[in-house]
Amino acid sequence: MSKYDYLVVGAGLYGAVFAYQKKKQGKNVLVIDKRNHIGGNCYTEDIEGIQVHKYGPHIFHTNNKQVWEFITQFGEFNNFVNSPIASYKGKVYNLPFNMNTFNELWGVTTPADAQKKLEEQRGKYADIEPKNLEEQALKLVGEDIYNTLIKGYTEKQWGRKCTELPAFIIKRLPLRLTFDNNYFNARYQGIPVEGYTKLFESMLDGIDVELNCDFLENRERFNNIANQTVYTGGIDSYFDYCYGALPYRSIRLETEVLNQKNYQGVAVVNYTEKDVPYTRVIEHKHFAFGEQDKTVVSREYSSEWKVGCEPFYPVNNQESLELLNKYQLLAQKNKNVHFGGRLGLFKYFDMDLIISSSLESSALL
Ligand code: UDP
Repeated sequence: MSKYDYLVVGAGLYGAVFAYQKKKQGKNVLVIDKRNHIGGNCYTEDIEGIQVHKYGPHIFHTNNKQVWEFITQFGEFNNFVNSPIASYKGKVYNLPFNMNTFNELWGVTTPADAQKKLEEQRGKYADIEPKNLEEQALKLVGEDIYNTLIKGYTEKQWGRKCTELPAFIIKRLPLRLTFDNNYFNARYQGIPVEGYTKLFESMLDGIDVELNCDFLENRERFNNIANQTVYTGGIDSYFDYCYGALPYRSIRLETEVLNQKNYQGVAVVNYTEKDVPYTRVIEHKHFAFGEQDKTVVSREYSSEWKVGCEPFYPVNNQESLELLNKYQLLAQKNKNVHFGGRLGLFKYFDMDLIISSSLESSALL
């Protein structure tokens, strides 16, 4: 007899939602995580009274009412709306691509003039079937925006040429002919008032959690501890990288406390020039309209992931899809282990999709 019904490896969003649902169904669950904290990459830490997003900015947004109702039962959310700024060669531009951006770039003031300009810019790409991110971006917004706001940022973030990246990545960004700087087309949006960590504490309340515990280094101990295992680490790591490592991007945040109230006036500034070594600068207090005397700022650097680093973004392309398929075939042979989350499924998911996929699998497994 196993002690637990479920072992959940990883106390991030997918794992915590799964564990909560299973506990609600009356099951016995053990959650383990190799880090010394819960929350996965959503983890926030209080520095100078400011909730610092230790693994990069996490702005919750969704159109899914069920997901919104689910997550907000664990804590109050504020009404933060993400309106990041792009900085290119000393000039700033509004994001996503909207009337403010078109005005800043081309001086146009009406939707009709912006439309005309956009058509001029993307005209020659109108009929192409985009095969990569560059072609998709040129078809969507044309040359000026591609060169000013997309190319440098994307190539830094992904460490690959835009011609070697899948088109879908750029489709995440809205394009609007209104003066609306809301980065997301989402009905519900916000940040947990007391930080994400509190939210996870509430989700995992009453569930056994073991931190500083690396599943891969203690496989024998966990082999028979539960009837079913939910693994939210990299699917390649579970199989000891037997076919080679899947490609991920890693990020590094250089964080400092500044003795000033307001550093950049907005939560996120994207540096879209190739020559600026970091991708973006995050000023955490602005996620919560903070009034503290000091401020905490993080510069985000992107790099290729190597075994031993923290994987962040799966690089979804044809080559990685083929490798992923091989791992998934192995996974299918093992009926008692299920893979979930951004790493387990090797998919560039937003938080709300992680929640809905975890809710779905917790109802099925
Ligand atoms: N992107 C860009 N310029 C920007 C912001 C984003 O070119 O200023 C591109 C980039 O390729 C990125 C994609 O749009 O990978 C999606 O951006 P999003 O903000 O959704 O990425 P996230 O930070 O959520 O992963």
